[in-house]
Amino acid sequence: MDSAGASDHDGKSILVVGGGIAGITAALEAAEAGARVILIERSPFLGGRTAAFHLYFPKLCPPACGLEINFRRLKNNPRITVLTQAELESLAGTAGNFKATVRLSPRFVSGACTLCGACVEACPAERSDEFNFGLSRTKAIYFPHAMAYPAAYAIDRSLCPEGCTACANVCRYDAIHLTQAPERRVFSVAAVIAATGWAPYNAARLAHLGYGTLPNVVTNVVLERMAAPNGPTRGKIVRPSDGKPPESVAFVQCAGSRDENHLPYCSSVCCSASLKHSAYIHAEHPEVPVSVFYIDIRTPGLLDEFRARVTADSHLTLVKGRVGRIEEDPNTHDLFVTVEDALAGRKSIRKFGLVVLATGMVPQSDGLPSGFERDEYGFVADGAPGFYAAGCAKRPEEVAATVRDATGAALRALPYAVRSGRHE
Ligand SMILES: Cc1cc2nc3c(=O)[nH]c(=O)nc-3n(C[C@H](O)[C@H](O)[C@H](O)COP(=O)(O)OP(=O)(O)OC[C@H]3O[C@@H](n4cnc5c(N)ncnc54)[C@H](O)[C@@H]3O)c2cc1C
Repeated sequence: MDSAGASDHDGKSILVVGGGIAGITAALEAAEAGARVILIERSPFLGGRTAAFHLYFPKLCPPACGLEINFRRLKNNPRITVLTQAELESLAGTAGNFKATVRLSPRFVSGACTLCGACVEACPAERSDEFNFGLSRTKAIYFPHAMAYPAAYAIDRSLCPEGCTACANVCRYDAIHLTQAPERRVFSVAAVIAATGWAPYNAARLAHLGYGTLPNVVTNVVLERMAAPNGPTRGKIVRPSDGKPPESVAFVQCAGSRDENHLPYCSSVCCSASLKHSAYIHAEHPEVPVSVFYIDIRTPGLLDEFRARVTADSHLTLVKGRVGRIEEDPNTHDLFVTVEDALAGRKSIRKFGLVVLATGMVPQSDGLPSGFERDEYGFVADGAPGFYAAGCAKRPEEVAATVRDATGAALRALPYAVRSGRHE
């Protein structure tokens, strides 16, 4: 979907790849400083990973307010063109003078959509809801959550029964065009900002921790969706095996992180995320004991105050020790966690109702041009002149750092757009 804004006739722009909080911030900062911006997002909606969170640490406020303000700023800024279901196909040239070819997949739903819902009712096909990590289902025509932007349905055409036009037939606004074809557009671009973000580490690779085989072992990103009122359990933190509240919860820190066989680096936010999650649990179930098994608790800078606040809860226990194995009672699906308690110097086996794996962040850097540098783990760095990286594509970091980083990337890209003489 193409929001109003600059076209390729308006001269050179800054191209921002990725529409999470990093890309949105870079686009807004560059445009509000006077440059034209093309913001391309691979999925049908902006917001990236943060749109799926219940609350943000350290303030424990809902991400929706910040995102809503940013979406309004985007909508009201005529210098920004937002393209969703869009990917960079090729980039040629040098800083100040690139030609960017962008491939657009059809959305099949236009800006005339009012989200009335008639098409969703009429749609006969269902899909697993990736926004909720498969814990719920949507129709093939879907809108992931009330705050999603742009405010128009998207369609997973691969699931439509052959010849089905049920959604278009019931649309009273002529907003659904099922014959829409893919497109290519070429833009003159002065600089490129990579804001392609992160993906959760694939916890199924941690066979000893039981993810994917033991139903009551979940990951931190799944817990985030469970805790969200618009999530698959309507905000209830429950055991997937029986839908009941857990009697006790364990967090396994560094699940796959700081481990040569998985992610050798620290993802920097997982300790704060688990402390936030234990605050979710205590808000809903004040008496439920929570244990966090950790190597080191890393909450740098101002996040240390957040740690002090959350750990003041007497129902939270921090245990320094690596978890070696998780097994279950097949009848009750209760979990048995084997841990080496580093301070007590002994191994113990403890029982929990629910275990949360604090998995780390994997950089998403596919689809970026070769002008960007990459480190040994795949994180993206600034490259040749005109190539700037921001957010978790660059390093694991929290939202406040991402926003600062994205503002810096916009600032580094701006002189090229200014030099091209096209800014206002
Ligand atoms: C469990 C967990 C909880 C967290 N909780 C908090 C918290 O409470 N507070 C906090 O401050 N931080 C938190 N964080 C960190 C936060 O998630 C990141 O700081 C934030 O998501 C970084 O945003 P981003 O825009 O860099 O990346 P993303 O949010 O990943 O956005 C990247 C976007 O780029 C798009 N994209 C990717 N590749 C392409 C491509 N080739 N072309 C076009 N588009 C592309 C993606 O579809 C996505 O929309 C948490 C992290 C974890 C793991």
